[in-house]
Amino acid sequence: MSSIALIDDLLSHHHSYQNEFKEAVNEIYKDILEYDNKRSKDEITKFFERLIEPDRTIRFKVEWFDDKDRVQVNRGYRIQFNNSLGPYKGGLRFHPTVNESILKFLGFEQIFKNALTGIPMGGAKGGADFDPKGKSEAEVRRFCKRYMEELYKYIGANIDIPAGDIGVGVREIGYMYGQYLRLTDNFSGVLTGKHPNFGGSCGREEATGYGCVYFIDEALNHHGMKFEDKRVLVSGSGNVALFAVEKLIEFNTKVLTVSDSDGTLYFEKGISEDDLNDLKVLKFEKRERLRNYTGSKAVYLEGEKPWSREADIAIPCATQNEIDAQDAMNLKDNGILLIAEGANMPLSAEAQSMIENSSIIFLPGKATNAGGVAASGFERSQNAVHIQAELEDVDHRLRDVMKKIHRHCIEGVDKKDGVIPYKIGANLFAFNKIYHATTDLHG
Ligand code: NDP
Repeated sequence: MSSIALIDDLLSHHHSYQNEFKEAVNEIYKDILEYDNKRSKDEITKFFERLIEPDRTIRFKVEWFDDKDRVQVNRGYRIQFNNSLGPYKGGLRFHPTVNESILKFLGFEQIFKNALTGIPMGGAKGGADFDPKGKSEAEVRRFCKRYMEELYKYIGANIDIPAGDIGVGVREIGYMYGQYLRLTDNFSGVLTGKHPNFGGSCGREEATGYGCVYFIDEALNHHGMKFEDKRVLVSGSGNVALFAVEKLIEFNTKVLTVSDSDGTLYFEKGISEDDLNDLKVLKFEKRERLRNYTGSKAVYLEGEKPWSREADIAIPCATQNEIDAQDAMNLKDNGILLIAEGANMPLSAEAQSMIENSSIIFLPGKATNAGGVAASGFERSQNAVHIQAELEDVDHRLRDVMKKIHRHCIEGVDKKDGVIPYKIGANLFAFNKIYHATTDLHG
């Protein structure tokens, strides 16, 4: 049986119906098999057999009461994937689509992402199929507290340190950490993404979006280009998207779009600082939909994604598989120069292979969106020694980490048709590190 067939067989046997997970594994496995010249195909395949099985999959019931005192039941999860490089680390996602496949794909990617940062952290992911949309403040609070009543048994400052992701921001982390404190009296900072008032790091909220833009800046410089005046399409309007927009404005780019799952806001002249402030109030304070945006400089396009507009750079910052083959075709036809993944795996497998076979510079999420987990690593270190760094210091370190990740991605790969194959570089660097740590620890 060929190596690819063997992995397909393993995935189908133990992980059947987990399509997102299979897609994530295959994407990395194929790169390693083709480009790793340090190990035989057998050694690689045998190692993947170990790597694709999480150390532990925890699933629990979260029962809570809504505002009408009716009982509601959700499924909570924590997938502790691999702790060879450090304690398990990765976000919690609250979204109705959450299931084992999605969390396993995110946890698997997280092992590689964390390896790239150079900070000692293993890979994990968790969450629940709870939908915070349309819930009252009290309902969100009750849910978070009930969720933590189960999760606290499995986490710890040197064991597993969860953070936020889709549907889990500073508010949710605050309620969960509050419950952790009630249950344990242990102010060890076990969650990251906390408010700076109680142990959070300044700049953590901004870190993923800012880090993504810092990485793009490095990549543009390496290809002899500049950010200035570039037209940028951004999708999503959450934590990653809006802080990426903030940094893009600082870099003098023209950001044309933001979106949510209902539609796109198109700003013909680019988003200004004032527009961005209005968007932040709408999304972070009022928690409303983009269709309710009242600024006069934007057109709301119901049901549309950003990808059919002419631009130079595309930064998908919403969710997995949000760019399909048709969107990839539109991006190519419209002359996009660079795609940077703010979200995790936003390109479908088909879209991914179309972009890889084009002259578009492609920056993979495990590198570009690693700024968030890097800042979480800073937060963990600060909590361990009971200090709080200043914002400028965190931002400075974030920029350095993104430069370092960029260096890791370009080490050992040659340009193909004038373009650096970042995905291959990122996968090879991270795989090498995880392979060494795991085999040094466990044989
Ligand atoms: P948020 O919950 O803050 O925002 C998510 C945004 O994506 C919202 O605008 C949401 O719109 C939109 N969205 C979600 N699902 C869809 C969909 N099916 N179609 C179109 N739009 C959708 O999440 P984050 O900004 O934190 O996370 C965004 C992405 O970045 C995720 O892939 C996450 O895993 C990744 N990421 C996040 C990090 C972080 O630090 N937060 C770190 C690294 C990666 P709507 O309100 O309509 O759902």
